[in-house]
Amino acid sequence: MKNFITAALVFVSLVAFAQQQYYLTADRVFDGEVMHEGWAVLVQGDKIISTGAKDKVVAPANAIKINYPNSTLTPGLIEGHSHLLLYPYNVTDWDTQVLKESDSYRTARATVHAKNTLMAGFTTARDLGTEGAGYSDVALKRAINEGVILGPRLMVAGRAIVSTGSYGPKGYDSDQQIMLGAEAADGNDLIRVVRDQIGKGADFIKIYADYRWGINGEDQPSFTLEELKLINEVTRSSGRVIVCHAKSKEAIKRAVLAGAETIEHGDFIDVEIGKLMKEHNVTYIPTIAAVDMINQYRGWKKGTLPEPAAVTNKKKSFKEAIASGVTIGMGGDVGVFPHGENVLELELMVEYGLPVMDALKACTSINAKAFHLEKQVGSIKEGLKADILVVTGDPSKNISDLRKVKLVIKDGIIYRQEK
Ligand SMILES: [Zn+2]
Repeated sequence: MKNFITAALVFVSLVAFAQQQYYLTADRVFDGEVMHEGWAVLVQGDKIISTGAKDKVVAPANAIKINYPNSTLTPGLIEGHSHLLLYPYNVTDWDTQVLKESDSYRTARATVHAKNTLMAGFTTARDLGTEGAGYSDVALKRAINEGVILGPRLMVAGRAIVSTGSYGPKGYDSDQQIMLGAEAADGNDLIRVVRDQIGKGADFIKIYADYRWGINGEDQPSFTLEELKLINEVTRSSGRVIVCHAKSKEAIKRAVLAGAETIEHGDFIDVEIGKLMKEHNVTYIPTIAAVDMINQYRGWKKGTLPEPAAVTNKKKSFKEAIASGVTIGMGGDVGVFPHGENVLELELMVEYGLPVMDALKACTSINAKAFHLEKQVGSIKEGLKADILVVTGDPSKNISDLRKVKLVIKDGIIYRQEK
C-alpha cells in the first residue's frame, strides 16, 4: 500500500510538473509568419495554450513569468537537411568516415551532434541519410524520443537510395567490394529496397536523382523517370514521401514529375525549372552552406582569394530560384560543417539575396509545412507543441542574432536557459 501511495504521489507530481505554466514575454514574437511587438506566449505542459498581445493573454496566478528584454521569441527552428552521422570533412574526409569508421563510433559522435543541434535552437531536424552508417539514425531518433540523449525531434531517411555505379566512395580498385554511402538499387528491385528501408524505420525515402558521373565529371541523372515514378508509387502507398538530391536541371525535372516533395541542393536551378517546381508545390532546399564550406576546405580563402566557379554558380542559381517564386525552405547539409552551426545556412541565404523575413519563415513555418509538421511545430500558435527559441536582439534585422541563444524549449521542457 505504501508503495502504491509513493507511486501515486510521484505520478501526481509528474502531472503537476507537466502542467506547469510558463508566461513568456520578449520585445518581439515571431509567430512563424509575422513579427509582433508586445506579445506574450503561455505554455502549459508540452503545448502553447495561448498567444497574442500582452493585455489579451493574461498570466495565470501560478504561472512562472519570464521576461526577456532586448530579445526575440521564435518557434523552435527546423533544420531541413542534416547528416547527424557526419562531421566536417576538413577534420576527417567523407571517404574515411564512410569506409573506416564503425557505425558505433559514428553513432557515439552523432549523440553529441544531436545535442549541439538542439542547443543551437533547432528543435526539429530532417536527417537526409546516414552515409554508410546503416539505420543508426533510427536508433538516434528513438534514444532522443525516450529522453536517453538530448537532441531535436527527428525525421530520418535511413540509408537512402542510389543507382548502381553512381555513388561513392569511388576510385578504389574494382577488385575490392567497397561499401557505399547509400543503398544501390535499380529497376524493379527498387520496390523491395524502398519497402525494406520503410520497414527498417525510414520516415521518408531519400533518392540521389543525379550524381557527378558525367563523362567530364558533371552532374547527370542517375535514375530514369520511370524508376523515380516507381519509387514514388511504392513510397506513397505507405503514406510516406520521396525527397530528391538533384543538382542538374534534368534530374530536378524528373524528380518533380515523379512526385518528389523537396529538391535538395538544386545547384543548376534556373527560373524555368523553379517555375516547374512551383507548379508542382515542390519546396526547394538550397544547401548553400555546404557549397561554401566545401570550397573553403579545398583552399578558398573567403574574402581574399577570387570566388570559385561553384560558389558563383550557386549565387546565380539561388537568385534564379528566388525570381521563379518557388517555395524556399532551409537546409544547410549540416555535417559538412559543424552541427550547432546551422544558422550559417540562413546567413548565406540572406547574403545571397533572400529577404531576411523569408529566411526566418524558411526555417520555421515553411519547413514545417514542407515536412507535413505544420500542425505540430514551426509556428507560435495555440495548440502547437511548445518548441520555443529566445535570442538576444532582432533576427529580422540581423539574421546572425539567431546565434545569441538565451532559451531553448522543446515539447515544453527547457533544455537551455542563459542568464
Ligand atoms: Zn546531404
